[in-house]
Amino acid sequence: MKPNTTTTPPTSPAASLTEAEILDWLHEEDPANLEELWARADAVRKAHVGDEVHLRGLLEISNHCIRRCGYCGLRADNHRVERYRMTEAEVMACAAEAVAYGYGTVVMQSGEDYGIQTDWLANIIRRIKTETPLAVTLSMGERPDEDLEAWREAGADRYLLRFETSNRALYRMIHPDARGKVSDRFAILARLRELGYEVGSGVMIGIPGQSYATLAHDIHLFRSLDLDMVGVGPYIGHPETPLGKGEWSARLPEGEQVPNTELMTYKVVALTRIVCPEANIPSTTALATLNRDQGREQGLTRGANVIMPNITPMHYRTRYEIYPAKVCLQETGPAFYRNIQDRIRSIGRRPGEGQGNRIRGRT
Ligand code: SAH
Repeated sequence: MKPNTTTTPPTSPAASLTEAEILDWLHEEDPANLEELWARADAVRKAHVGDEVHLRGLLEISNHCIRRCGYCGLRADNHRVERYRMTEAEVMACAAEAVAYGYGTVVMQSGEDYGIQTDWLANIIRRIKTETPLAVTLSMGERPDEDLEAWREAGADRYLLRFETSNRALYRMIHPDARGKVSDRFAILARLRELGYEVGSGVMIGIPGQSYATLAHDIHLFRSLDLDMVGVGPYIGHPETPLGKGEWSARLPEGEQVPNTELMTYKVVALTRIVCPEANIPSTTALATLNRDQGREQGLTRGANVIMPNITPMHYRTRYEIYPAKVCLQETGPAFYRNIQDRIRSIGRRPGEGQGNRIRGRT
């Protein structure tokens, strides 16, 4: 057969992208071309993870933190935060609420808080796993091996630890080491995998000092790490942090700084879906904070398949201020739950059933 030289070969939606192509897409501004990117990401999403949108209840169990991250409002030096740590009874009551709302997972997140003792949390994990049908995801920062082992043993299913940026120098600046221990989140991610956790990571978009090339490399790394979950969201400056105040800054040459915009976030969500077709990818609260009305839906139609409604009791939620004006401060109770379900159905999708684990090799 004579080769057809006039048309380009059809690209399978699952065909992946090189780092150079990712970089080109990050620079793309033409709306018609971007429509193509959204459509491609949506097709990959549909083929690999289907139309279900998994709901994970996010429970912020403590805002104590020993770290001094330049971006995060919970950093140890922020003395304006009123610190809290939930009790076992409070955590169990929230887990019961997650079950009542039909969520498949509870995600327990905190600052890096060693007041959360290994056995205390192991006992809670064991209780949730025996008393409820929930999957348990942890996001407790850079805990030592023994803790990660004990919690896995107790039944925890997944662990989230964003590597934040793959640029070593930028990472060291925004995320100073603790207790003379060099922070190596990639080593911890590998360890989590060995222990049998589903592993999640991700980055912030538009951190001061983050270049387009770095972000393209980050996205490329998501694929090499074969992540089960990838969370990406815009960096939002917090006024009580060095980065938010502009005290620590790594100024980049004109045109190299990634903007922390809604559009850039959609590009990263879409590219992430294309490079990690099977991953569970949330449409994040930080994205909804930039666009309260449509942010979550647009994330879902451009590659995402997970929403993490906040189930933290309101009097604690206001104090878990990693960045200001989180949209979830308005989102609460059964009315919000129905609203989320309606929003999911309004875009032709359906709320997920079961725990929503990573599905391998569906196509
Ligand atoms: N202590 C845990 C959980 C931190 S909060 C840990 O360090 O892993 C979860 C995520 O929120 C962080 O990984 C970071 O990517 C994001 N985050 C923190 N501060 C932020 C900010 N100012 N803007 C946007 N995202 C932020």
